[in-house]
Amino acid sequence: MSTETLEFQAEARQLLQLMVHSIYSNKDIFLRELISNASDALDKRRLAGLTDAALKTDDPHIELVADQEARTLTVRDNGIGMTREEVVGLIGTIARSGTAELLRRLKETKESAELIGQFGVGFYSTFMVADKVTLVTRKAGEDTGTRWESAGEGTYTVEDVADAPVGTAVTVHLRPVNEEDGLHDYTDSWKIRELVKKYSDFISFPIRMGEETLNSMKALWARPRSEVKDEEYHEFYRHTSHDWAEPLEIVQMRAEGTFEYEALLFIPSRAPHDLFQRDGRRGIQLYVKRVFILEDSRELIPDYLRFMRGVVDAADLSLNISREILQQDRHIQMIRRRLAKKVLSTVKTMMTKDQEKYRTFWREFGRAVKEGLLGEAEEQKAILDIASFASTASEEPTTLAGYVGRMKEGQEEIYYMTGESRAQVENSPHLEAFKAKGYEVLLLTDPVDEMWVETVPDFEGKKFQSVARGEVDLSADGDEKVSEERAGSYAALLTWLGEQLEEVKEVRLSTRLTSSPACLVGDAGDLTPTLEKMYRAMGQ
Ligand code: ADP
Ligand code: MG
Repeated sequence: MSTETLEFQAEARQLLQLMVHSIYSNKDIFLRELISNASDALDKRRLAGLTDAALKTDDPHIELVADQEARTLTVRDNGIGMTREEVVGLIGTIARSGTAELLRRLKETKESAELIGQFGVGFYSTFMVADKVTLVTRKAGEDTGTRWESAGEGTYTVEDVADAPVGTAVTVHLRPVNEEDGLHDYTDSWKIRELVKKYSDFISFPIRMGEETLNSMKALWARPRSEVKDEEYHEFYRHTSHDWAEPLEIVQMRAEGTFEYEALLFIPSRAPHDLFQRDGRRGIQLYVKRVFILEDSRELIPDYLRFMRGVVDAADLSLNISREILQQDRHIQMIRRRLAKKVLSTVKTMMTKDQEKYRTFWREFGRAVKEGLLGEAEEQKAILDIASFASTASEEPTTLAGYVGRMKEGQEEIYYMTGESRAQVENSPHLEAFKAKGYEVLLLTDPVDEMWVETVPDFEGKKFQSVARGEVDLSADGDEKVSEERAGSYAALLTWLGEQLEEVKEVRLSTRLTSSPACLVGDAGDLTPTLEKMYRAMGQ
């Protein structure tokens, strides 16, 4: 096929514009993005080689070639490579579902750099430093290669090349050095060495410049925590999670004995945009003895902790393990339980050591974590310990321990009310008597709250009691119980009202209300209005 000139997809074009006009001050990071892609491609080639020996290479590596005369820097790998269709599909468009969302949010905010990090623009970051980028690639197992070139404006060209080696070479035609603008001399071998050390030291393939290997290739999770700088962890986190923001917390774990594994996990500092999307990205990377095996293994972490990122390296699994086997492997199930426990206990420690961090955690991930309350009893307990809820006591969410500590004398139960929003719940007549008597009520407004309150029996022996349902006895602190005499005198009215209001099971006098004349109350076993709505919407 001859040379084609193609247009970038609309969204890709917008992102490129942002890159060309360089919204991100740290331009150095283009190099780690290219190295990161090269490393991914080498992982893929190794995996392909397991099933087709012809695709293997003996010397997987990444090579950096700087040309000071031509002012170019080339990052070359002998990884999996791309076909012509893949080049057009992967580089010319942005297939990720989040891009439209990213662009929408970019228009609304000034924190573009951080946002972009959340969505990741990888390859396009080269256009921060380049006035032209050339990519030559050949897919392992294919005869013809492809050459792609673009100046980052509206279009790019693709053409076949006969003599490309297997793998990918990206040549960045550098813009003039501009220190003030953060554009350094990326043909300077010292600068290159410094950047590789800083951003890509842990990459598990050699990164070579001439004869020299620039990175140590040490697996971070195998090194004691005291020897690793936070900055190194952060870079590793960026590489594995594609999130440019720093992680909120690092969770490290090692198990020895019959089934050995090491885990290096990260709690991100922000919920990913696809946290509640069915096809959202989730899972952890699985390694076996330092060798990358699987991306996004959902089996390694429970779904309610799906925002966790990082690596599990298991010593005793087969290198050929498949997702199907993973799902059934009881060692994997054990790892999943242990990791979940460790994450929850890490958050618990955070509550006492760093309130601010904990609040961030719960704000970003609480809604997902609460899904775990629908699971096993042991986890329920651990989750209740770290949960926070909106409450009538203050604007700040409260923990259950906090609530219990403030319970009034004689109060036996934890009162809550579910609904769609804080405002809606707070205006409900159901709350009146509770508020008037100074009882605190939890305001549960996430859809998942409707469900766990049905299945979680209690917190430290205190049952959860909806203020909108059943007989709530508020008489403990006085003479508020409706006296028989008083009830008797209203009997005729109540019977008459009962007959008029056919949809209502029973009409009774109440101590619940202080200013509203009447309210609807569900039976102890009834559905809440929100659940009722949900079921109705599902056609049940
Ligand atoms: P990401 O790495 O987050 O997927 P990038 O923009 O960095 O996003 O890269 C887009 C895609 O282009 C990659 O997912 C990969 O499929 C392909 N790609 C980029 N660089 C290479 C490479 N060196 N070898 C093979 N494929 C590559
Ligand atoms: Mg990338």
